[in-house]
Amino acid sequence: MTNDTLIRGLSRRPPLRFAFADTTALCRDGIIAHDADPAGGAVLSEVLTVAALTAVLLEGDERYSFRYGYRGAAGVLLADVNARCDVRGLPSHPHLEEYAHDPDACFGKEDALISVVKSENGKVLNSGQISCGMASPAGDASMFFSMSDQIETEFVTEVRFRPEPSDPVAVAAGFMLQAMPGCDLEEFARTREILHTPEFRTTLLDRELPLEKKLRRLLTLLKLAAEDSANVSYQFAATPGFRCSCSRESMKRALLTLPPEERKQLFSEKPVVNVSCQFCRKSYSFTADDFPKS
Ligand SMILES: [Zn+2]
Repeated sequence: MTNDTLIRGLSRRPPLRFAFADTTALCRDGIIAHDADPAGGAVLSEVLTVAALTAVLLEGDERYSFRYGYRGAAGVLLADVNARCDVRGLPSHPHLEEYAHDPDACFGKEDALISVVKSENGKVLNSGQISCGMASPAGDASMFFSMSDQIETEFVTEVRFRPEPSDPVAVAAGFMLQAMPGCDLEEFARTREILHTPEFRTTLLDRELPLEKKLRRLLTLLKLAAEDSANVSYQFAATPGFRCSCSRESMKRALLTLPPEERKQLFSEKPVVNVSCQFCRKSYSFTADDFPKS
């Protein structure tokens, strides 16, 4: 069993913010909840890991809600996250195995529509939407934060599966880099490129390295911590997990939005109505007695 971890950190030279997350259990639980196949699970893992990394950008009751609208078979993927790194995700098409080797068919030839909303207790703080065609949720999220928030940002995620239906993820991890004020853009571009080197990606997937050693190695590869370890500071931020915010009350509120006539009709057909949360598949049962007579 892995304990997922999210670490936040800063580098002084160049001035960067970074986040590193082990999301093995988060991705496993998301894949199992949505019965995703390996190709669908890889896309969902990318979406969940990116969401987990962005928890370091949130405070208090703030929340990010992501919507990736692909024009290919992957369709629409939703995810949200709060500052405690409670992450949940919803893929419209969790079965993508037949498109595994065809990014155009999976993500579409046309640009995807990516939208991100930052909210606090249901109130929108800011929102943005961009079209982009990176054919990967991590690439599209990088583009979103760099363009819409005008802060150079790069995400990289990795996942490795194993043939074990009850525990399908051997390891999943991700890294985020974000330019801070005063960061030279060329220097950021050089550091960003390292995220995509095979060496960096292989290190992310290393299961033998203890977490902090892995982080030190990643920072060394990025040339942020090689000679001068005082150049970086980092701390534990949260424990990522596939945790849904649904409740019996929230499901009841959803049923209360039905016109009373429709609700009456529903309960006349079925004495017990089961409503499932789309995000986590948890089922809630209601009878007519749960609602006001009207
Ligand atoms: Zn739920």
